[in-house]
Amino acid sequence: TRTPFIAGNWKMHLDHLEAIQLVQQLSYRLNPRDIAEVEIAVIPPFTALRSIQTLIEGDKLELGLGAQDAHWEDSGAYTGAVAPPMLAKLAVDYVLVGHSERRSRFGDDDDVVARKLGAVQRHGMIPILCVGETLEERDAGRAEEVVDRQLRAALAGLDRPHEVVIAYEPVWAIGTGRTATPDDADHMCAAVRRIVGEIGGDTQAVRVQYGGSVKAGNAGDLLARPDIDGALVGGASLDPDGFAAICRAG
Ligand code: 13P
Repeated sequence: TRTPFIAGNWKMHLDHLEAIQLVQQLSYRLNPRDIAEVEIAVIPPFTALRSIQTLIEGDKLELGLGAQDAHWEDSGAYTGAVAPPMLAKLAVDYVLVGHSERRSRFGDDDDVVARKLGAVQRHGMIPILCVGETLEERDAGRAEEVVDRQLRAALAGLDRPHEVVIAYEPVWAIGTGRTATPDDADHMCAAVRRIVGEIGGDTQAVRVQYGGSVKAGNAGDLLARPDIDGALVGGASLDPDGFAAICRAG
């Protein structure tokens, strides 16, 4: 069976001192025994990765470390960008690829997402591929078609597509307080699993997270569903009590 995976995407919040504080607060609140069956990762801004890496090394709590984006080249004239080998050197375990905010606000299209995903894997890190439809697409009955397109564009050509974590994040549920119902979220996570199978992946091995207004109050219901293997948490991951509660629900 798949290990539940809870990840906190901090987005563009917290300087490195605040980041250290949050990880310490989290560490006080989580008893390793409570979360023995759950994998947890924090995904801070680039500027906090080094501080948190150092902190995690000496901590009893086994926290994974993620980055929010990466360029597809190993180096080059790309002012402002961060290359995958730089992240690998910081012991980064996971890299978000294709987050809807990257797609809508930074122009990351399917082709860019595929290149970034390949580069992350080449450097031994696990991509967390984010997919999800907008409200307009859902209302038009096209949600599954959009997710299908995003998955195939990013995963086609991979030998082991199930080694990517997939985060289903409906855009209309992100930061809106509006969560997909557990049934709807589970239904789409099952569809994701089926599509990964069609691409040649192992449907039982691939981990599929739900993201979009996950909080302590709804995490239990979502995570209890058979095809939801974890959560990608935005806003609620900045609150140590809330995030610790979500981790315990996993
Ligand atoms: P919220 O949990 O703030 O809705 O954000 C979800 C998200 O985008 C995580 O990547």
